Amino acid sequence: MEQSRSRVVVITGGSRGIGRSVAFRFGEEGARIVLAHYDADDSAAQETLDTLNRRGITAEAHKVDVSSFGFVDQWFKEIFKRFERVDVLINNAGITRDTLLMRMNEGDWDAVLGVNLKGVFNCTRAVIRPMIKERRGRIINISSVVGQIGNAGQANYAASKAGVMGLTKTTAREVAGRGITVNGVAPGFIDTEMTAVLSDRVKEEFLRQIPMGRMGTPDEVAEAVYWLCSEAASYITGQIIHVNGGMYM
Ligand code: NAP
Repeated sequence: MEQSRSRVVVITGGSRGIGRSVAFRFGEEGARIVLAHYDADDSAAQETLDTLNRRGITAEAHKVDVSSFGFVDQWFKEIFKRFERVDVLINNAGITRDTLLMRMNEGDWDAVLGVNLKGVFNCTRAVIRPMIKERRGRIINISSVVGQIGNAGQANYAASKAGVMGLTKTTAREVAGRGITVNGVAPGFIDTEMTAVLSDRVKEEFLRQIPMGRMGTPDEVAEAVYWLCSEAASYITGQIIHVNGGMYM
């Protein structure tokens, strides 16, 4: 991918955690960043935006519900109007509603599948035609190790993340001849607000499963995402890269 002009990079869930690290990483190359966040309390998004802007990076943050097809479609129309193209899409927004399957209600299921899986479809659907027209593009979908190995108490989340893997490979096959690569990154146990809410017992249980014996950092995930979007990874598509300290091999 030629990088003489600054790339337009859209990152869903870019206000905190992994998405924020990805935004900072792309910011280092001088990319123009568009972030989506969801919470009505936009302090995290604002703080991320301020940090990016202080570093001289052009960035915007928009309140978007990625699970809404219509909203996402409209949002991308605005992005294309303002930036003319999207070079990189990072489908990172994700939520959990953990409980055992026998206690899981329809709302828990629909909410998680809506954001984590349908959200990826919605955003990909919105960029794919323009990317095909440009004959270039990079799409990264953030999955999870539990989409591969399952996890008690996360039927909805694991199903959504396994779905993301299938969606990634299918999208990759459909656009491989059009200069677009589509890959997944499956983090293991990463130190963000998503995992901060877990009990010490659950955290210890996870740590026991990790050969490297520690949580990963958002920056370690961001590096893999960034590299997959670089020219160095031009012949890699339809792959799921695991960033998990050996938790799944
Ligand atoms: P996080 O700190 O909880 O951040 C989640 C992000 O998603 C926030 O920016 C949030 O926006 C955004 N978001 C939530 N619902 C949204 C919606 N409906 N529309 C748009 N944005 C929405 O999570 P994280 O740990 O960085 O996780 C990032 C991704 O990595 C997720 O897909 C997650 O499943 C995956 N992952 C994480 C881990 C881990 O151990 N942390 C492991 C494997 C996979 P607000 O700030 O506005 O709420």
